[in-house]
Amino acid sequence: MKLHEYQSKQIFARNGIPIPKGRVAATAYEAKQIAEELGGRVVIKSQVLVGGRGKAGGIRLAKSPHEAEELATQILGMEIKGLPVRKVLVDEAASIETEIYLGITNDRAARKPVMMASAAGGVEIEQVARETPEKIIKVHIDPLLGLRDYQARDLAAGIDLPRDHWRAFGQIAHSLWQTYQNNDATLAEINPLVITSDNRLVALDGKMVVDDNALFRHPDLVEMRDLDVEAQAETEARKYGLSFIKLDGQIGCMVNGAGLAMATMDIIKFFGGEPANFLDIGGGASSEKVSAALKIILSDPNVKVILFNIFGGITRCDEVARGIVAALQGFDT
Ligand code: GDP
Ligand code: MN
Repeated sequence: MKLHEYQSKQIFARNGIPIPKGRVAATAYEAKQIAEELGGRVVIKSQVLVGGRGKAGGIRLAKSPHEAEELATQILGMEIKGLPVRKVLVDEAASIETEIYLGITNDRAARKPVMMASAAGGVEIEQVARETPEKIIKVHIDPLLGLRDYQARDLAAGIDLPRDHWRAFGQIAHSLWQTYQNNDATLAEINPLVITSDNRLVALDGKMVVDDNALFRHPDLVEMRDLDVEAQAETEARKYGLSFIKLDGQIGCMVNGAGLAMATMDIIKFFGGEPANFLDIGGGASSEKVSAALKIILSDPNVKVILFNIFGGITRCDEVARGIVAALQGFDT
């Protein structure tokens, strides 16, 4: 589950990472009020769950509350990479000297979390990794030991951070690690972490992805889920406990078991077709679940046919048949 920038930054702040003053607004009028409270220049930031908002025109500087209202009106009417903007974050504008990247994710090959820093902040890290990988400094974190002080110093030295910022950088690195670990995140990223003209380190942007499989122990995070921007089919699927991922093909698949579902997709592709989805209805699915799954598959206009691949034994085939009948009765075909 991805968190919005304003949510990630609230979590960062609770863990001691400095962020700019600001609040989220759902209307242009609210944005104006927040700008008045903050006094002076603010930045209006679209809250959508994609990167590159800056380039898409979703981040604008306002010099007055009046301008904040105007820009918020524009941004709240935008779609960025297909996602409607429903909220904007209004933050005190920072005056930036330097933009740094600092993030943690899992390095599957190393079987450890990896903390990465780069002096090329503000640019998407995937792009830096592609074009100038030598600019990314990495340290692997032993999950039992946590981030060590010398590792934070290695990162600071590796990106040529001026000495007088090492202490603050070290604290932020530790806090980011705590945030990552305590929230069962798979990504915690500050891009950019900036040095301001008055010589402070501040997290201007924040991004967190939380492991869905750990959400059961984070009820506070579950509440942050933005149903608005999730594909509706995925929301429905979660309600019924189905593992569903929409894909771009025309052959819908209803399968029980993740392994069989993957093998089924492989077979479809092997014969030149394209699956429209991954769907695991799980073992022992009831007819209600089957019926819900079928409705989800059929709600995709790309779907031309559906392949049922049910392994009898862990799921009763008569339940599946009943589910299909129930779902089809609800359609005028
Ligand atoms: P992203 O494009 O979705 O990653 O959004 P960011 O929050 O990272 O903002 C993109 C860029 O906008 C940053 O790298 C900064 O250069 C700029 N920016 C964001 N906030 C401010 C601010 O308060 N002041 C100034 N001057 N620039 C900002
Ligand atoms: Mn960013």
